[in-house]
Amino acid sequence: MNLHEYQAKKLFRDYGLPVPPGEPAFSVREALRHAAALGGSAWIVKAQVHAGGRGKAGGVKKANNVQELEACVHAMLDSRLVTHQSGPRGQPVHCVLVQGLEEILRELYLGMLVDRGSGRVAIVASPEGGMNIEEIAVHSPERIRTFTIHPALGLLPYQARQVGFFLELNGPQRKQLGGVLAGLYRLFLDKDLSLVEINPLIVDGQGALQLLDAKVSLDGNALFRQGALAEWRDPSQEEEREREAQRHDLNYVALDGDIACMVNGAGLAMATMDVIQLHGGRPANFLDVGGGTTVGRVSEAFKLIAGDTQVRAILINIFGGIVRCDLIAEGIVQAVREVGVRVPIVARLEGTNVNEGRRLLKDSGLSIVAAQSLADAAAKAVRAAQGK
Ligand code: ADP
Ligand code: MG
Repeated sequence: MNLHEYQAKKLFRDYGLPVPPGEPAFSVREALRHAAALGGSAWIVKAQVHAGGRGKAGGVKKANNVQELEACVHAMLDSRLVTHQSGPRGQPVHCVLVQGLEEILRELYLGMLVDRGSGRVAIVASPEGGMNIEEIAVHSPERIRTFTIHPALGLLPYQARQVGFFLELNGPQRKQLGGVLAGLYRLFLDKDLSLVEINPLIVDGQGALQLLDAKVSLDGNALFRQGALAEWRDPSQEEEREREAQRHDLNYVALDGDIACMVNGAGLAMATMDVIQLHGGRPANFLDVGGGTTVGRVSEAFKLIAGDTQVRAILINIFGGIVRCDLIAEGIVQAVREVGVRVPIVARLEGTNVNEGRRLLKDSGLSIVAAQSLADAAAKAVRAAQGK
């Protein structure tokens, strides 16, 4: 689960981390009130969406007076912001963060994440902040360094100093960084975070560090014990179908091709997508119905993938182990009866109760193309999507 920048900054403040003053606003009036309370004569207005790259996309604006602030907040609220991370439809803006204008001497990058390779929490730092970290990784990988934290020892002072030297900080700044890293690590563990990204961490006009931007993700599997934080979830920022899938406990991922995929098991999903691409097609999504499922869930799953407007063919690829092929077939027939389906369906069923499953599909009177192997299924689905 992702947090908005203003929510992340609230957590940072709770942990004593240096965050520039600022408040979230849901209306122009509220924004004006916050600006007045902040004082000064210029402000930064930041669209609150779950996507980075807002600066380049017009989602971070400087307002030089109250009129500009009013116009800028008015334009941002209830618009959609398209950034390189948001997808072509963009993300809805329901809230803006009003911040004071900071003097920036340096922009640095600081991240904390669960490093799957070492199985430890790691700090990622770069003296080249403000930019896209992926670009730095490509062009000057030596300017990014990872520091892993031993779970039993915790963050050690010498490590914080190493990060400070790598970030080219002076003495007082390195000392301040020690506090920042310790606070971040405590927050990371307390709140079951999976990712913190501060880009940029700045050196301000006084030479002090400030966390200017904030991206925070929580581990979804730990939400049950993070009750208060779970309430911060903003469903408006999530893909509608992924949300619907979550409601039915299904794993659904939206992609941008035109062949919908219903499979069981993440491995089979990957293989199915690979083989579709190999045959010149592109998956529109994949939905993993998982193991112990029910007719009702299969039916919901099918409706979900079939309802995607970009879908031009549906590929069902089930290897019945724990899940039975007849149950899958029953779910599909039920879904098609309830909502109808306007695109060709290709089905490849194998495994437990396969004959019964195939018979159910055949007897249903629905026009479903049967496939014998994964390659056969992919070839048929690609042809069907091309209208052949
Ligand atoms: P994003 O990463 O989504 O583009 P950021 O919060 O990183 O958004 O803002 C983009 C850039 O805007 C920053 O790198 C910084 O240069 C500038 N900026 C952001 N907030 C402020 C601020 N309060 N004062 C001055 N400049 C800011
Ligand atoms: Mg940023």
